[in-house]
Amino acid sequence: MFTADGISVSYGPIRAVRDVSIDVSEGEIVTLLGPNGAGKSSLISALIGLVPKAGGQTSFRGEDVTGLSTEALVRRGMTVTPEGRKVFADLTVAENLRLGAATRKDHDGIAEDTEKYLEMFPILRERFHSAAKYMSGGEQQMLAISRSLMSRPKLLMLDEPSLGLAPRIVDQIFEFLVKLREWGLTILVVEQNAGDVLEFADRAFVLASGALQFAGTAKELRETGDVMEMYLGLE
Ligand code: ATP
Repeated sequence: MFTADGISVSYGPIRAVRDVSIDVSEGEIVTLLGPNGAGKSSLISALIGLVPKAGGQTSFRGEDVTGLSTEALVRRGMTVTPEGRKVFADLTVAENLRLGAATRKDHDGIAEDTEKYLEMFPILRERFHSAAKYMSGGEQQMLAISRSLMSRPKLLMLDEPSLGLAPRIVDQIFEFLVKLREWGLTILVVEQNAGDVLEFADRAFVLASGALQFAGTAKELRETGDVMEMYLGLE
């Protein structure tokens, strides 16, 4: 469904991502793992057009989308929930969700989707008319993901959704990702929290120092002790 071929990202002399190829098939949860500074955020930002690529090609649902803007990619069904729960802090939950649907005009569909995510995360209904900044980190993450989903993506990319959250909240967010897969969504999730995500991901890519170190199923990765130990700090 989505392929990225030979992607490179540079910041001046720093080569943050070097010739990395990944792919995601329809209905899968694929995880992109790796230590701090490995280039995961840079790669995902390049895939959605937020930072320029120094090289490489991307295709989405059979179309070459290499040079397209972020907005054009969102219109085609790609979206990203950035690291650090970037909700609009001064806007209400309702306004944040509405902004997520900015590329849509189907008012009934927007209302239906809003209801779906309020059902999923009742706290968002409770706080519907209050500013996002008054919610906890976990609640803001639920809002950030729901807001991304309001564009009705076919491919949802998430940058470290578990970062800084309590284990109970992480479980809730990961359970939600599994539910989204059941609903037919395709997911690419960047994580440092490899142990948890490998319990439900279908496939995994491991990045370190900007280069791909492993590509395979989640099960294969769990059984590849040296990669788990060397790059992910797990045995
Ligand atoms: P983390 O999990 O800490 O976010 P990461 O795997 O997502 O790490 P990146 O944030 O993509 O890694 O960073 C990869 C490399 O690129 C690092 O060496 C980082 O310092 C550098 N880098 C990232 N963003 C910029 C930028 N805007 N300007 C210059 N260098 C950058």
